[in-house]
Amino acid sequence: MEKSKAIEAVVFGVVQGVGFRPFIYRTARNLKYSGWVKNIGFGVEIHLESETPCDFNNFIKALKHNKPPLARIEKIDIRSAAWFGCREFHIKKTGKGRSFVFISPDISICDNCHKEMNTSTDRRFLYPFINCTDCGPRYTIVNSLPYDREKTTMAGFKMCSNCQKEYSDPMDRRYHAQPIACPACGPQVPLLNTCPGNPISRGIKTATELLKSGNILAVKGLGGFHLVCDPFNKETVQKLRKIKARNYKPLALMAKDINAIKNYAHVSPEEKEQLCSPRRPIVLLKKKNDIPGIAPGLNELGFMLPYTPLHYLLLEDIELFIATSSNLKDSPIMKDENEGVGKLCDYILTHDRPISMRADDSVMKIFNSRPLFIRRARGYVPYPQAVPEQLKYSGQILALGGELKDTISVYKNGYVITSQFLGDLDEYQNFKYFQEAIAHLSRLFDIKPDVIVSDLHPDFHTTRYAEKSGLPHLQVQHHFAHILAPMLEHNIARKEKVLGIALDGFGYGNDGTAWGGEFLLADYSGYERFAHFEYLPLPGGDLAAKQPWRMSLAYLYNIFGRDLPALASLMKISPDKIKGVIRMIEQKLCCPQSSSCGRLFDAVSFLAGLAPIEVEFEAQAPMLLESCADSKINHGYEFELSRSSEKDSFKGPYIVSFSKTIKAIVKDIENQMSISELSAKFHNTLADIIVAVAIKCRQEHNINTVVLSGGVFLNKFLVQAAFKQLEKQDFHILRPVLYSPNDESISLGQIAFALEQKA
Ligand code: ZN
Ligand code: ZN
Ligand code: FE
Repeated sequence: MEKSKAIEAVVFGVVQGVGFRPFIYRTARNLKYSGWVKNIGFGVEIHLESETPCDFNNFIKALKHNKPPLARIEKIDIRSAAWFGCREFHIKKTGKGRSFVFISPDISICDNCHKEMNTSTDRRFLYPFINCTDCGPRYTIVNSLPYDREKTTMAGFKMCSNCQKEYSDPMDRRYHAQPIACPACGPQVPLLNTCPGNPISRGIKTATELLKSGNILAVKGLGGFHLVCDPFNKETVQKLRKIKARNYKPLALMAKDINAIKNYAHVSPEEKEQLCSPRRPIVLLKKKNDIPGIAPGLNELGFMLPYTPLHYLLLEDIELFIATSSNLKDSPIMKDENEGVGKLCDYILTHDRPISMRADDSVMKIFNSRPLFIRRARGYVPYPQAVPEQLKYSGQILALGGELKDTISVYKNGYVITSQFLGDLDEYQNFKYFQEAIAHLSRLFDIKPDVIVSDLHPDFHTTRYAEKSGLPHLQVQHHFAHILAPMLEHNIARKEKVLGIALDGFGYGNDGTAWGGEFLLADYSGYERFAHFEYLPLPGGDLAAKQPWRMSLAYLYNIFGRDLPALASLMKISPDKIKGVIRMIEQKLCCPQSSSCGRLFDAVSFLAGLAPIEVEFEAQAPMLLESCADSKINHGYEFELSRSSEKDSFKGPYIVSFSKTIKAIVKDIENQMSISELSAKFHNTLADIIVAVAIKCRQEHNINTVVLSGGVFLNKFLVQAAFKQLEKQDFHILRPVLYSPNDESISLGQIAFALEQKA
């Protein structure tokens, strides 16, 4: 920067509602500059003056390196400005007008506030709503923007004079902290009895005692209620599982501190970093000392650390508790006592700060030192995703995602904002949540879409919603969207081609069949199916996903016909049922064709004796299989990779056939090979297939970038094996890091396609 007497700097990014203006104020004053700072429609504008010409570099450096923890700078535009001879530096009032401002996600209580809360002389001693500009709720309490107190769910609380003083003082760490509160003026925490909802006490201490004596409490957090109870009390855990109608699904734990976690699980430095980050996700950790009944049959436990002051107070003399979201099966997390949370628990520990937007806890594993998201929600939403320069578009886009594990995404001014996980939209309550999320994001970011995007599936609720909207409607094939999402995240250039490997349970293919083991040669504009898993019947359609033995039969029948091998796992099914399914397959009754990878996992998991006759949740059978895989085994089974029309001038896609694989698996089962070896060999086979197809694609198309996406890639064993093999062959590998590989990323991929069409 050339020397001048005044500059103007415009900062874009997450810079409002995060203590950015007071930080600028303090920095400018320290460096003896005069001028002003103010919020503008899309960021923060700074005017700096100096008595003598200078380059202001010390200021810009401080801006980049000492910024408040919640601020995220996307871009700074600096130019020289007119010199007005300002006397001092001050914070100017925000003007009115249309805006596009990023807001911070909800953030856990910071160290300063934590310390204050534990100081007996502080006026917020033990106050469960202590917060400051560096911490506390954001996304879940904002009704609309600009982010001012009146636009949040704190609007109903009138600040006391002490809070008002802190709020108005630029040197105070609560300057413009919108949720500012204290015991005199802020929200309270009544403990309710579930019957008529009468307060029985105001004590968090009482709540702790109730937890210790085996009660289930609903505790109101940031994005909704948790159901909280003692993980060591078998009866209570059983009761909780009955209430949630979940016998096997793993339950999340919240522990007092990292040492408490280490008593039960192994924690790597990277895992610790995520656990302790202000976003406070649930991190899946390898079991050390199992707590029976929490994650049956699996080798990991999901832990998180406290993130609200209330959590800390509850955990004062408890080591850990179960903290699972308060929802009925296939309904969203409850945010309000009136939604029936009383039916799920013995007592309710609630508070009177309303939740504007629901959000579940985020869940991740760590792979290669970076997150692998199973669920992206609280703490990460609504961070913006910049799109590649060549894809920028002047209009606005709304993408609706798929149907299971849905999210929505909106695009405006070069950024995509993806909603939190919304769940399975086939359920009425979740569909309402989907509508709430559209309304919320549209309001926050002032979105008026001129294009709407959905999946190709004609019967998805999202597709129908798009059709009814009356807007120009684009549709994107499911697996193509899976690949587009990480392409956008990793800033792949507009014309660049990649090999996208999308492995998942199910997505509607452009030939009307159920795809799920797909190798797509793709760029933003479209794809060619380079290879896919062989088609097999799904006996009973959707039922095949619930009852893994049906898939086992489909694979076995494909090889052995009616002459099925006598496997122990098949003995669990009555001969009549087996005959019935064989008949369905032979007569092609209710047997849609599918290349699903998830169903292959189901089949193998059942054959190996792991999967139950009927699964409780979608990924149960594959998770059981992954859990027992022995990482010391590094070879796989045989498979076939062939091209159906090798002789024709038109070469169709390669077909991956598992006949040899399944035959060998059956033999290994008959020879009583250990399940851990068998499982590892099966996983390694898929990694072998991935690299074999990638090599063919490189030979034929000179493509070196491989994108891995789809729910199957939540399988850490498989991701690890695939990475190892692909790296050995020098492939450039991309996988989703900021988003989940599962269907949560579909809406982001849909935006990428729409941008390519519009740019
Ligand atoms: Zn704080
Ligand atoms: Zn107050
Ligand atoms: Fe999918």
